[in-house]
Amino acid sequence: MGTAKDRGGFSAGLVALDPTLYGGFVRHPALDGDFDGPSSSRPPKPDETPRSLGYVGRIEVVCGSMFSGKTEELIRRVKRALYARQSVQAFKPRIDNRYDATRIVSHGATAIEAVPVATSESLMSRVLPGTVVVAIDEAQFFDRGIVEVANELADQGRRVILAGLDQDYLGRPFPPMPDLMAIAEDVTKVRAVCTVCGGTASRSQRIIQEGATVLVGGADSYEARCRACFRPRDMRPGEG
Ligand code: ADP
Ligand code: MG
Ligand code: ZN
Repeated sequence: MGTAKDRGGFSAGLVALDPTLYGGFVRHPALDGDFDGPSSSRPPKPDETPRSLGYVGRIEVVCGSMFSGKTEELIRRVKRALYARQSVQAFKPRIDNRYDATRIVSHGATAIEAVPVATSESLMSRVLPGTVVVAIDEAQFFDRGIVEVANELADQGRRVILAGLDQDYLGRPFPPMPDLMAIAEDVTKVRAVCTVCGGTASRSQRIIQEGATVLVGGADSYEARCRACFRPRDMRPGEG
């Protein structure tokens, strides 16, 4: 932990000087998403994993229905890690090209740069040794290998943040999210607003006729619904 000056005069460094605000203070990742290294840590050099410096990794899952703010929450955590000058890499599955091929973009239009990858193996091979935070959006679109990849990355001392749908359009658990939730140190469920009644929504209602589990779409194809308003088998007739 250096002075504000050797942190390059970065204003957040001033906060680090006040032990009541920062030092030794254990915060809850679900509330603020931070990741503090060992107290005497320096950032890992590009060729060493965080583990070799005493970082203890962890897995965080952010899950919920469509429009629940999963991507916003992922981006929020990434931005905080960047304020802390941690090296971050963000990934998304190549299948998800709704908005932008090399960025993670929320429905509220916040965005970060991301690398699209086709498989969990490809993701693993792209993580650089010195990366402290690995952020992964739309985790439900990855193959099952993502579970082992997340574990391995966390064992290497990294903070792994995965955002994804916990349920598919029929309300069924969406693999591999259940397994990721089981091995995560921290799981945050975020919820949307039901488009029918204005209540708290936990489900993604498909509003066009399409039987495939994977149908990448936005507000044209899905609505956030609460349990009471969710009609899994009832899509608007004559559409799609
Ligand atoms: P997710 O990644 O979970 O699909 P995003 O983080 O991309 O969600 O977007 C969340 C944003 O979507 C909200 O902040 C809000 O601006 C917008 N939004 C649109 N429809 C809804 C809804 N029914 N409930 C809540 N937020 C909504
Ligand atoms: Mg999203
Ligand atoms: Zn409702």
